Amino acid sequence: MLAVLAHPDDESFGMGGTLALYAQRGVAVHLVCATRGEAGEMDASYLQGYASIAERREEELRCAAQNLGLAGVDFLDYRDSGMSGSEDNQHPQALAAQPVEQVAARVAHHIRRLRPQVVLTFDPIGGYKHPDHIAAHDATVLAFHLAGSQDFQDVLPPYQSQKLYFHLFPKGWLRFAVMILPLLGKDPRRFGRNQDIDLLSLVEQGNFPVHARINFRGAAQQKDLAAACHSSQLSGAGLRRGPLRWFQDLFGNYDLYMRAYPPPEPGLRERDLFADVTT
Ligand SMILES: [Zn+2]
Repeated sequence: MLAVLAHPDDESFGMGGTLALYAQRGVAVHLVCATRGEAGEMDASYLQGYASIAERREEELRCAAQNLGLAGVDFLDYRDSGMSGSEDNQHPQALAAQPVEQVAARVAHHIRRLRPQVVLTFDPIGGYKHPDHIAAHDATVLAFHLAGSQDFQDVLPPYQSQKLYFHLFPKGWLRFAVMILPLLGKDPRRFGRNQDIDLLSLVEQGNFPVHARINFRGAAQQKDLAAACHSSQLSGAGLRRGPLRWFQDLFGNYDLYMRAYPPPEPGLRERDLFADVTT
C-alpha cells in the first residue's frame, strides 16, 4: 500500500487509522510525502535543537511512521506552499507551483519502485482545500496511470497498481462541527488555528460518494500515538480538542474513501481496501 500525501502530519491526522490497521495486518505500508511542511507555524520552543522547521517536522514524521508501523517514508523534496494566498505560494520550489506532469513523474517512479497494489491520496479538493493537498491529488491520479504505461519512460519497468482511493474528510464530523461551532461562539467559516478553513464550503463542495468505510478501531491507539508525535502542530485550538474531539471519539474510528479506480459500480460499499486485489 502506498499513501501519497503533502505534509508531515497528513499521514496521522487524516488516514492514520487506515495506515496503522493495514500495517498491523502485515501489509507493507509506504508513505511518499511531497514536502517537509516548511510553512507550518510553530512555537519557538519546538525549534530548540533543530536547524529549521523542516528538520523538526521531518523528525515528527519519522516518529509517527514508527508508531503507525510504516515500512518506509520517502520525500519528494518540494516545499510547503502554505495556505492559499500566503507568501509561501510564490516560492520557486512550492509544491503547488510545480507542473503536475513533473510531480506525477516522481510519484510514478515511486509506484514502479514500491509496486503497491493499493494507492491512497487526498480527495479532489484536498480535504480542506489546501493547495498542496490538491497538487498531491492531481499528481497521484496522473501517476497512477503513468506508472502502468509503456509510454512513460523511467529507469524501472511499468507497474499498474490495482486500486486508487481518495480519503474523504469525515462527513458526520463536518456536519456536527458546522452545527456546534456557532453554539460555542465560533464561526464555522473561519475554522482551524489559522482561521482559514471554511467548513461550510467543505460541506457544500466536498460531497463525494463514499465507496469504502474502514473501521480502524484495532489501530486507534497507534493513530493517537502517531498524532502525538506532531507536537509542534498541536498547540492552540486544533481539530482534536473539546466537543469535536468527543464526537470523533464516539463516532470517529472510521476512515471514509471514494474509489477512483477501478471505476466503482453503483452502490459500492467496501469494508476492505484490499477487497478483490490479486497478488
Ligand atoms: Zn497537509
